[in-house]
Amino acid sequence: MQMDIKCPRCQANLELEKHKGIDVDRCPECKGMWLDHHELGHLEDTVVETGFAKGTMWMRSFGSDLACPRCAEHMNWFRYRRFDLEIDHCPQEHGFWLDAGEERRVLEIMEERKSDLKRSKSAQEDWDKFLSSMGNTSFMDKIKRMFGGRR
Ligand SMILES: [Zn+2]
Ligand SMILES: [Zn+2]
Repeated sequence: MQMDIKCPRCQANLELEKHKGIDVDRCPECKGMWLDHHELGHLEDTVVETGFAKGTMWMRSFGSDLACPRCAEHMNWFRYRRFDLEIDHCPQEHGFWLDAGEERRVLEIMEERKSDLKRSKSAQEDWDKFLSSMGNTSFMDKIKRMFGGRR
């Protein structure tokens, strides 16, 4: 069961739809898309089979004007490396907001990233090592650790 949630941009009621087999909440007005916390991981899994490259494209976190549709907390946004793609996310880990068209760019970027990595075997090995050093942690924990500074 899921409560109706409203678009953080235009306050329209979001509509549930299937997007590549994932339940997402789509705004009928601005066509933005809300992904619950774990669902961005699933979206990435539709492109990146072993989970590599997940999280690697996040850079920094900034305060956003948008409020989380679940808890009304101000969201933070991330920027995907090398692209002007901004993704808002709830600091309470309720989920992610993608503006219209951004999810397509996320997939394009991941496809590109995947072919980059195929060309670079060592990058793949580094990523494997990195993933195993992360152990069995959640997607968000991984992101947090990546931003947690190097020790
Ligand atoms: Zn909207
Ligand atoms: Zn929230």
